[in-house]
Amino acid sequence: MKSIQGIGMTSRRTRERMIDRLIDQGITNHEVLDVIRNVPRHLFMDDALASRAYEDTALPIGHGQTISQPYIVAKMTELLIDQRHLKNVLEIGTGCGYQTAVLAQLIGHVNTVERISPLLKKAKERLWELNIRNVSYQHSDGGWGWEAKAPFDGILVAAAPPEIPEKLLAQMAIGGVMLIPIGKERGMQELQRVTRTASGYEIEPLERVSFVPFLSGKG
Ligand code: SAH
Repeated sequence: MKSIQGIGMTSRRTRERMIDRLIDQGITNHEVLDVIRNVPRHLFMDDALASRAYEDTALPIGHGQTISQPYIVAKMTELLIDQRHLKNVLEIGTGCGYQTAVLAQLIGHVNTVERISPLLKKAKERLWELNIRNVSYQHSDGGWGWEAKAPFDGILVAAAPPEIPEKLLAQMAIGGVMLIPIGKERGMQELQRVTRTASGYEIEPLERVSFVPFLSGKG
């Protein structure tokens, strides 16, 4: 494993600045902030980009995909857990595994699905090296959810479909929450929070976001 100590870009101060920015942007959950402070984001990207790892920006991870901006990872995680202890969560769009690593420290078990096999494989190796073990991985189209692992008390979708996939709704537990960006145009998508109640689903629009598209089939 690459060293996570001792190089400038991983210095306490650099990471602390990122945390200060997240607080300025309205992130308040201290557990979430602590986890983000401690997950070495630079290990989730190519060496050539690692010096930019603690900037609040999305960066390329290959295969036309990006690692999500720290703000959006923090925001979605905070909204997903919402002061509860979640036991079983589905994440769609593993990508490099950064969001997975954050979720895994706060949640009982994370089930993560990615359609691009080499990304999934690399994410799995990284999380193993970081000693994160409470994660199950699947190479699949997340539009199917993950039936065998359902129901989920939380679902986090990291790519934007034009509408909410039916299967994901069906795999939510009652009381469960899903965070999902909806819409075609990058930067014009809407983050939505779906809550399953005993009688149906409540959908709340939250904020404008920018995600890669949710694509069908395996990549
Ligand atoms: N969670 C990542 C961000 C990943 S970017 C992070 O922490 O930075 C979004 C990912 O969603 C990409 O890797 C893309 O391949 C994947 N994706 C897009 N559509 C998908 C689908 N239908 N099923 C599974 N993964 C999908």
